[in-house]
Amino acid sequence: MYGFDIDGDMKVGLVYDPIYLEHDTGSHPENSQRLVAMMSHLDESGTKEKLTCLSPRPASVEELRMVHTPEYIYAVKSKAEKGGGWLDPDTIMCPKSYEVALYAAGGLLTAVEAVMKGEVSSVVALVRPPGHHATSNRAMGFCIFNNVAVAAKFALANYNLERVLIADFDVHHGNGTQETFYADPKVLYFSTHQYPFYPGTGWIDETGASEGQGTTVNFPMTAGWGDEEYLRAFNEVLAPVARRFQPQFILISAGFDPHWADSIAMMQVSVAGLAQMVMVLKNLAAELCPGRLIFTLEGGYNLQVAASAVKATFDVLLNNPEIVDPLGKSSREKPGEFEEHIEKVKRIHHIIKS
Ligand SMILES: [Zn+2]
Repeated sequence: MYGFDIDGDMKVGLVYDPIYLEHDTGSHPENSQRLVAMMSHLDESGTKEKLTCLSPRPASVEELRMVHTPEYIYAVKSKAEKGGGWLDPDTIMCPKSYEVALYAAGGLLTAVEAVMKGEVSSVVALVRPPGHHATSNRAMGFCIFNNVAVAAKFALANYNLERVLIADFDVHHGNGTQETFYADPKVLYFSTHQYPFYPGTGWIDETGASEGQGTTVNFPMTAGWGDEEYLRAFNEVLAPVARRFQPQFILISAGFDPHWADSIAMMQVSVAGLAQMVMVLKNLAAELCPGRLIFTLEGGYNLQVAASAVKATFDVLLNNPEIVDPLGKSSREKPGEFEEHIEKVKRIHHIIKS
């Protein structure tokens, strides 16, 4: 117990269930083949046998209501009953999608419960549909319910916690997560994302409102930046704001779409770079909140990238020093002006004096 195995190593959990394949989106980029590719790679590489498998439960409507309006939850349910269809121009659902979406949010609640009970120290939840674009009353960008936001609310409400950090390295800004906690001082939301880009939010001057002023930290990225810029954002901005905030739990919206080979966006991160970012997060969790760390899958549409990046994430969490990056680094040239940019973010968040 207490999240350690017999050799004193940290136990790492995997949340997965074949029900996640039943959210049928047809030929949409966010389709079940993503999870099929990740799970078969974890199996074939021998990684899966080192993990503690956790069976997800569905979230209850009451649990979803911590983030979503009853009218919206009901609208998704009735659309499923009527055979599914488009919820927004990017987001499609099938008759089974409401139930699968309950399990996606619930998978994170299972993960929070397992960490808080000490059954595992960290968890990677391979769930779909993803969540970070979903707002209180709207599906957006392939997302139906905001899984990570529901998990943060659940952790705060059920375990007497006062501070949760959500870090989001998906290439898109998590507008739904930001909106949920914009005025909430109990949740620090940090995001790196390509900018300008979908969904249009996430500039550096969006820093929170009223009591939550300062607890939204956006690090927009110019198209073409890669490992070095992401790692500097993590080490020089995320780490100091996290230390100042002192989270008791860390949740990660993990999107593997900042990778250079993911054609949905234009960043140049490598699998090795993603692994280093995971290492920063793991070290912060070890330092600040006895290792309590949950990753939840958001985007990532190149199947080889997604499979290798998930395996690399587990390798870091399992203390496996050997990280395999089959695709290597990008050789494209990078745009400049990073120094001025990072300095601006540091000044806005009082990491350096203005
Ligand atoms: Zn994304």
